[in-house]
Amino acid sequence: MSTIRNVALCGGTHGNERSGVTVVQRRQAIEAREISPQSAQLADAAGPAPLYAGPGDPGTLPPARKPETFALTSLISNPHAVARNRRYIDFDLNRSFGNATLHNPHSSGYEAQRAQVLNRMLGPKGSAEPACDLIIDMHTTTARLGPTIIIRESDLVARYIAAAVVMELPDVKILSYLAEERVETASANASAAEEPAAGGAPGAADRPGDYPYLAEITPHGIEIEVGPVPQGVIRAETVIWTEQIVNSCVAAIDAWNRGRTLDLPESIEVYRFTEAVDYPRNNTGEIFGFVHPARQDRDFTVLRRGDPLFLRFDGSTVPYDGADERYPVFINEAAYYEKRAGMTLCEKKMIPVAAVNPISR
Ligand SMILES: [Zn+2]
Repeated sequence: MSTIRNVALCGGTHGNERSGVTVVQRRQAIEAREISPQSAQLADAAGPAPLYAGPGDPGTLPPARKPETFALTSLISNPHAVARNRRYIDFDLNRSFGNATLHNPHSSGYEAQRAQVLNRMLGPKGSAEPACDLIIDMHTTTARLGPTIIIRESDLVARYIAAAVVMELPDVKILSYLAEERVETASANASAAEEPAAGGAPGAADRPGDYPYLAEITPHGIEIEVGPVPQGVIRAETVIWTEQIVNSCVAAIDAWNRGRTLDLPESIEVYRFTEAVDYPRNNTGEIFGFVHPARQDRDFTVLRRGDPLFLRFDGSTVPYDGADERYPVFINEAAYYEKRAGMTLCEKKMIPVAAVNPISR
């Protein structure tokens, strides 16, 4: 495991997810000294950021923690989409980092070209000497997910950072995906169709070893997902949660670079993506139902065979009939109607971190 020297903090990968945009704009304003020291001083390296206790707490906007052992560059991933306050212009940017898109000299569409620019600027993907060692990519969701981070399980640095973040911010949950193996055979009611026009839902878009996400073009990556927040809207608690998680990641990367063990637990709980579940559809393929009221807003709540999933327009219930004991996330995420995903299912797993503590490197 090597030292993390260069990190990119990316917001606006989806242009209508404004928390990440706000965090980037704030960091850029601090770097440009446009914000007065009273209102937004860079954090004193020794002082811990105030802990935001959750949605019941009005909280305070934490200072932007300054890294001590690495360079941190803040940037807007999809500036055209941000300017229009929409997810993307031509295609989902966070599904544009597969090798086929990155290496197609004739690719058309703004995001395909932007992906190649970002790959040259921050990667390139698969390089032994990439420009950045790690990307922190900030997202929001309309689902009631709470504060979460997403890691690839084979990324040992990401596991260490995730463990450190959860130790500091126990409300944060960890979503994960596997790198090399096909996750699971889709169940009867999972989306078995070809990939949707703008790319699939998390875990459904897996191509072994070649995930299409921005955080995959560097050797290590962390995605932040906070919700619920409507698309295109800035809400304080979502921004504050995102700031807290970014600060916690910065502290964890400094600790990693210094070889500190941080008294991390031996293992961490992750919710590993297994499959996407499509909405009910009529015989012409149009959506013919919606998320069942007993399942709406119950992200991370266990799902068992026979539990209600959707209500069809005719009032009948679609029960869950897949593998027992799954944990749905991204329930009724607005951006996933086009991805044929009413929710994404996870299995709960414990994965080790002790083996990746720096002291055992
Ligand atoms: Zn997003």
